[in-house]
Amino acid sequence: MTLTMNYCYRLYPDAIQEQTMLHWLEISRKVYNYALREIKDWVNSRKCSLDYCSLEREYIIPADKPFPTYYNQQNALPQAKKEFPLLAEAPSQVLQTTIRRLHDAWNYFQHRGFGFPRFKKFGQMKSMLFPQFKTNPITGWQIALPKVGKMPINLHRPIPEGFVVKQVRVLRKADRWEVVLTIKSEVSIPIAQPHGEAIGIDLGLEKFLTTSDREFIARPRFLTSLYRELELLQRKYARTKKGSKNRQKVRKQVARFHNHIANVRKDWQFKLANHLCTKEGIGIVLVEDLNLKAMSRGMLRKHTQDAAFGQFLNLLEWVAKKHQVYFARVNPDRTSQTCPKCGTHTGKKELSERMHRCGECGYETDRDHAASEVIRLRGLEQLSTQGLWGIENAYAVGLPGTEETPSRSEAKPRKRKTRNAKL
Ligand SMILES: [Zn+2]
Repeated sequence: MTLTMNYCYRLYPDAIQEQTMLHWLEISRKVYNYALREIKDWVNSRKCSLDYCSLEREYIIPADKPFPTYYNQQNALPQAKKEFPLLAEAPSQVLQTTIRRLHDAWNYFQHRGFGFPRFKKFGQMKSMLFPQFKTNPITGWQIALPKVGKMPINLHRPIPEGFVVKQVRVLRKADRWEVVLTIKSEVSIPIAQPHGEAIGIDLGLEKFLTTSDREFIARPRFLTSLYRELELLQRKYARTKKGSKNRQKVRKQVARFHNHIANVRKDWQFKLANHLCTKEGIGIVLVEDLNLKAMSRGMLRKHTQDAAFGQFLNLLEWVAKKHQVYFARVNPDRTSQTCPKCGTHTGKKELSERMHRCGECGYETDRDHAASEVIRLRGLEQLSTQGLWGIENAYAVGLPGTEETPSRSEAKPRKRKTRNAKL
């Protein structure tokens, strides 16, 4: 398994480097617009009606001229450079990827049927891509880019061992510069075999998560207070006058704050994932296979999106792999309606019902804890049916993965066989 990730850092060019990069952005804007002009002209020339030609639309493009594809336009670059020496001032790779970007936008437009690519006005080209590097551009606290040389970056998160920088995108964000490094693992990480103890994890709205070994992780308070602060800022923004300098200023503050919250949340999730995967004796982590789309419908939307469960699960998967912990997702269907002790279907619980009480075997525990136990058992069962796991497990709830369950809410109620299981 190889892995690709994007890491984002602040970049601190000096005044000359900043001027150079702004100049490049401007050149790539011109290339973008020129290439778009070619496409537009070609399209308009095809639009000419058959019986007459309007004065404006009388293009000199011959009918057999091929569509300006990415390759045509990219191959025209060296020739264009001879005619316009200005183009040679920017790295040619950057210009190539600019054309690539236009054609991606064009293809997307073709695919969707709307959103014709637009000309970019002065200052609207805000990023450029350096698509490949022969040697690692990062040395110490600096990044070396072609033609501008070394610039300090804020390498607050070191690039993990075994990863190589593949691409660098330089972004102009308001008055700041950022780089997004696309890093790829060169060493393939072997998939961990199931071993040791297993924990099941239930993600919830009241608590962030509950594990089958009775750990309850609350939603962090600092996030809640950050949201409150964000709300205040947004209210402040709403009070500013349209078009005023102050509005621009506050808008920037709001954007930065959003960014800050996302970083804080990700950091917290990383720590939590690390904690879960490094528990004593844990070799298997089992989670619900959440269909986030289904969950974020209706009243649960806001909370669910805040919790960013999807991001957390992806992160957890990655951290688990790093620690050689086996990670699997299991069918989330009715985890809260099943008794983990006897497998009986206990019927739907209201959201306010916090306890699991089984009428069959009398098992009582916290509702979320019961769900996490069910997830754990289902995961183990999944392993045993896959033949990866030697222990026979008599758990009798419908096997995950044997039938398609599109999502929690879309799944139709089915009759299930329930029988008492010996555990
Ligand atoms: Zn029971």
